[in-house]
Amino acid sequence: MEIFDHSICDILFNPIMENRNSMIESARLCYKSVAKTVEADSKLLKNCVQKGHWSPIEHSIVKVRFVCDRGISHELVRHRLASFNQESTRYCNYSQGRFGSQISVVKPYHIHKDSMEYYIWRKQCEDAEKAYFDLLELGITPETARAVLPTCLATTIDITANLREWYHILDLRTSRQAHPDMRLTVHHVLSVLSDDYPEIFRELYLERNREIMEDFVKKGE
Ligand SMILES: Cc1cc2nc3c(=O)[nH]c(=O)nc-3n(C[C@H](O)[C@H](O)[C@H](O)COP(=O)(O)OP(=O)(O)OC[C@H]3O[C@@H](n4cnc5c(N)ncnc54)[C@H](O)[C@@H]3O)c2cc1C
Repeated sequence: MEIFDHSICDILFNPIMENRNSMIESARLCYKSVAKTVEADSKLLKNCVQKGHWSPIEHSIVKVRFVCDRGISHELVRHRLASFNQESTRYCNYSQGRFGSQISVVKPYHIHKDSMEYYIWRKQCEDAEKAYFDLLELGITPETARAVLPTCLATTIDITANLREWYHILDLRTSRQAHPDMRLTVHHVLSVLSDDYPEIFRELYLERNREIMEDFVKKGE
């Protein structure tokens, strides 16, 4: 059994210049104004966000690949204004060599290595893996055998959305009300988008980054 210490995310497609030009072009269309300087364009984008004039921000696209647990992916797919593709536990047979003949799981953040909780969690995952392989050996198909796999099973999921929807997703999923593993998973996306589109994401990033530092890093965890 392979254990990931935490989720991973990778920004697969993020045409920064094209996205910026496309959003600015559509924002300028509203006022029939012409592009002036980089600073003026930047100010325009910031104004749109501050005024709640969000539609120009929809003229953009960003695709992110997550390797996370199925509990987290289950929450992510609730966002309806995005496109998804996810590894299928119906069609993937983890007993095959291309999966290393093993299942992969993601360690929950609040279960610390070398603790009793870790031992309990790990044993449960190993038992689930054994039950899954035993069912396959008995001729049960992967789509049925998956019933014994844990929520922390690792999954790969691609999500494509425009920057307005990413803002919405990141706002909800980095907040203190969100699941701790979710907050840590999407924090990296917010950090990258804050660098690339500061007019839209910087304020949210500064607030959430401070909270995440307080809640996770400063506790020495
Ligand atoms: C902390 C937290 C706890 C949660 N707990 C639960 C839970 O216990 N059980 C549960 O079932 N879900 C739960 N959810 C999921 C939540 O209810 C939403 O389904 C999910 O967050 C998707 O968000 P959304 O609907 O705002 O946005 P998206 O689906 O991303 O849509 C973006 C926006 O588009 C608009 N929109 C989209 N579809 C419609 C529509 N049909 N009608 C009107 N406007 C629409 C809304 O303005 C919406 O905010 C939880 C979410 C969070 C963040």
